[in-house]
Amino acid sequence: MEPRSQMTAKTLLEIKEHLGHCQSLLEHLTGKHAGVMDGFASLSQILQSSYAAGEGLISDDIHKIIQAVEFAAESHRGQVRKNAAGPPYIIHLIGVANMLMLEGRVRDPDVIIAGLLHDSVEDTDTTFDDIRSAFGERVEGFVHEVTDDKLLDKAQRKELQILNAPKTSAGAAQIQLCDKYYNLCDIAQDPPPGWTQERIDGYVGWGQQVVYHLPWVNASLKHMLYDFFERYWQSKRPSSDL
Ligand code: ZN
Repeated sequence: MEPRSQMTAKTLLEIKEHLGHCQSLLEHLTGKHAGVMDGFASLSQILQSSYAAGEGLISDDIHKIIQAVEFAAESHRGQVRKNAAGPPYIIHLIGVANMLMLEGRVRDPDVIIAGLLHDSVEDTDTTFDDIRSAFGERVEGFVHEVTDDKLLDKAQRKELQILNAPKTSAGAAQIQLCDKYYNLCDIAQDPPPGWTQERIDGYVGWGQQVVYHLPWVNASLKHMLYDFFERYWQSKRPSSDL
């Protein structure tokens, strides 16, 4: 075996070991939640195949991405999603990372890592300093861009997301698109208990405003959302319109 392929086999083995460690942590923290484990299996697969195919991620990048899954799982430990099914919160972060890599074809490790950490500062004790020291300034910057200022009230935060959307960087915009898609699907299919239809429609309308104001950066992600909005509003038209 020539040295380069030996190196690949060794690094692939190290990646598998790290993924195995991360899987055990997720099993432990979520009680082997089926949705979380499925999402992680799909992320593991895309990371390994992307590395093996030489799509631009070196082994250090893969290890940092797995480390970010572990970091997110630890920091969101015990938190659940707001929808009626209420799965462990980490399901959303792994879902966003999968969407970035699978639908968005994103291979920038910092964007994938920031996708995993995008709710850390807003929803946990993690600080921007923690993110910078563990993953660097660029990741911190993306997380900063997608973090709402919790000192403002909800209506102001929502308004600011629309106003700030056009100024968003390419990396943060792609995270926003995946985050919005994930949340919109959740709310349309399995809304939080007590949400009226009017409130759901209001959320979808607001999400649409944010998405339309984000820069044109990733056609497949944008189209995925445009299709969602079209289907959503179409399903609400009276049948006489059809
Ligand atoms: Zn989110």
